Amino acid sequence: MPEATHSSLLPEDRVLLEKLLAGERRALAKAITLVESSRADHRHRANELLKVLLPRTGNSIRLGISGVPGVGKSTFIETFGLWLVEGGVRLAVLAVDPSSSISGGSILGDKTRMELLATRPEAFIRPSPSAGSLGGVAEKTREAMLLAEAAGYNVVVVETVGVGQSETTVAEMVDMFILLQLPNAGDDLQAIKKGIVEVADLILINKADINPQAAAFACTQWKNALKMLRPTSPHWTPPILTVSAVKREGLEVFWREVLAFKSTLEASGEFAAKRKAQAIRWMWNLIDAGLRHRFHEHPLVRAELSKLSELVAEGRISPTVAAQQLLGFLQHS
Ligand code: GDP
Repeated sequence: MPEATHSSLLPEDRVLLEKLLAGERRALAKAITLVESSRADHRHRANELLKVLLPRTGNSIRLGISGVPGVGKSTFIETFGLWLVEGGVRLAVLAVDPSSSISGGSILGDKTRMELLATRPEAFIRPSPSAGSLGGVAEKTREAMLLAEAAGYNVVVVETVGVGQSETTVAEMVDMFILLQLPNAGDDLQAIKKGIVEVADLILINKADINPQAAAFACTQWKNALKMLRPTSPHWTPPILTVSAVKREGLEVFWREVLAFKSTLEASGEFAAKRKAQAIRWMWNLIDAGLRHRFHEHPLVRAELSKLSELVAEGRISPTVAAQQLLGFLQHS
């Protein structure tokens, strides 16, 4: 396939592209707004932009960070983020917030979070898109991640709140998934029950400053619990570390483990393989969503769906017959 060229872009988007590639934060914010828009013309412009940018993406380490509300996600990301940017790293923080897609409100997206980090020119912080289903929000975050990479951000953190399905959604778009926990066992059990721990590549016990002994005990408990689970990679045992986001303790050890994870998985070939599998899965998610959309928008489906649903509910036709008839409509354009 020929490489997409700048000529496929509107003049204003060509300017946007140049500014984005130069690492301008406002250009990145504007490009993400384009990607998040549901307007068809915006979608088209966003796709053209992404086509041109694609060869410039992929040069970051993508970290997912999750944990229940109050565990200290924003405090940790701010502390860790400041430490990183002081070390010359450019960091983008993107949020996937399931609450925003359900209620229109948001647990993660309020503007007062990570105030210090937000003032740093080397950092870019973007709250979760506020419309659409979790799947839709996640797709937009994936695209935002690519844009951030093209803008030269070399660490991308995707933050999500640990309530429900969003962790697995995020784990499927990042290289390394990190779970923040409080030093108490009730919390641990919740995470194990929900299957979140299975996707964790590293566990951080935060707030270790409050009671270091309890934190150390939680570490041991976690180590034992994890022995019973299948690791995310045969070459990697998820480390369990204690940190204090407010006291800035444990950041260096954490970062060392992140780099060790990357080099270990690169050496085994899993790093690239994981990204490839994620890209294919992403494509299928979009195909599924596209087919569903096309189905619901089809005039014959719109005309017949509620009547057929009623007949199925009343037991007058079988679900199989109804489904076949409805799907058959797709053949008439
Ligand atoms: P989030 O909802 O997961 O983003 O949690 P926040 O970052 O908003 O933190 C919730 C509360 O825990 C805030 O009052 C923080 O100051 C506090 N907190 C976060 N990290 C630590 C920590 O390491 N130690 C202590 N003592 N408090 C912390």
